[in-house]
Amino acid sequence: MKRYRIATIPGDGIGKEVVPAGQRLMAAVAKAMDSFAFEFENFDWGGDYYRRFGVMMPEDGLDALRDKDAILFGSAGDPDIPDHVTLWGLRLRICQGFDQYANVRPTRLLPGIESPLRHCRIEDLNWVIVRENSEGEYSGIGGRVHQGHPIEVASDVTVLTRPGVERILRYAFRLAQSRRRKQLTVVTKSNAQRHAMVMWDQIAREIAREFPDVSCDKELVDAMTVRMVSRPASLDTVVATNLHADILSDLAAALAGSLGIAPTANIDPERRYPSMFEPIHGSAFDIMGKGIANPIGTFWSVAMLLDHLGEADAARRVMSAVEYATATPALHTRDLGGSATTEQVTAAVCERIRSGAEPPYALSVGA
Ligand code: ATP
Repeated sequence: MKRYRIATIPGDGIGKEVVPAGQRLMAAVAKAMDSFAFEFENFDWGGDYYRRFGVMMPEDGLDALRDKDAILFGSAGDPDIPDHVTLWGLRLRICQGFDQYANVRPTRLLPGIESPLRHCRIEDLNWVIVRENSEGEYSGIGGRVHQGHPIEVASDVTVLTRPGVERILRYAFRLAQSRRRKQLTVVTKSNAQRHAMVMWDQIAREIAREFPDVSCDKELVDAMTVRMVSRPASLDTVVATNLHADILSDLAAALAGSLGIAPTANIDPERRYPSMFEPIHGSAFDIMGKGIANPIGTFWSVAMLLDHLGEADAARRVMSAVEYATATPALHTRDLGGSATTEQVTAAVCERIRSGAEPPYALSVGA
């Protein structure tokens, strides 16, 4: 029997509630499939660790993760610690340390979930946003000097490299090619950002020639927000830089009904290092400890993790159980207008997996 080594990093806030729920789901699906098993190792990194040791994770933390097959992550964020410290000290250290350069965010309208878009049907909203995850606007290059003085200056430098752009665009074209519609929208802002984004556009045209069966169009990031709202069915796979995709994917999650549902994967496509899977939401301290966090975003992330491990049947089974939960109003948490608890949703989804009930709803994770 195959044994997968999984690192769990709950992090902060509701991460500590949804990651254990995700771990329960993984144990349930492994038992039901009976062809693989998981070995979990939990890491208590995050805000509490920072209060004790002054760092979000240990210096040699990456070494403890290196031999894992995948990482399930919760969230990083703490009201007492500046956001840039929590973000760079944990999540980005792992993403950059393991060169997880493709951040993949599927967005679908799941059964039973209402989109804030009027008249939006399930078939109208089925996107995957690919976010460049290693450079761009979040390169980390910049500085701040003369703090507090009238001459204070600060800069964040956008860095796009040819290899960095080529590899993310190639990944996005390949993903688009694997989906039914074979359609990729390349998001840009080359009218205003006239160096890096012009190179981005040019490389997109070059890579497009390698994928003649993928139809490709270009959209300015500002126009893209309008298109997502007014013509959602015109989109399928989308690729954008780090900052642009960061913003667009939050909009996408909101259009699909709730931040609590959306998943994301930080992938090293070359599989040199473990990839990391996490719900898109943050630590949500306002609902922490109340037992009402929606675990669906984590469950969908688990489906992506299974798909990445090559366990496509198990991934489909998880998605089918997730769709059963979203289609059942009694299993809606507060963010979806219901009153179900994290425990109730987790128990119901695990039971659905155990009972092997066949999908009335199953769609594949990516397509
Ligand atoms: P961070 O600073 O870590 O990004 P945040 O609290 O500012 O976290 P989010 O956690 O992303 O932002 O979410 C904003 C709000 O959406 C939360 O305050 C919470 O009310 C709601 N929310 C987010 N995720 C969930 C969830 N899984 N279940 C229920 N509500 C959620």
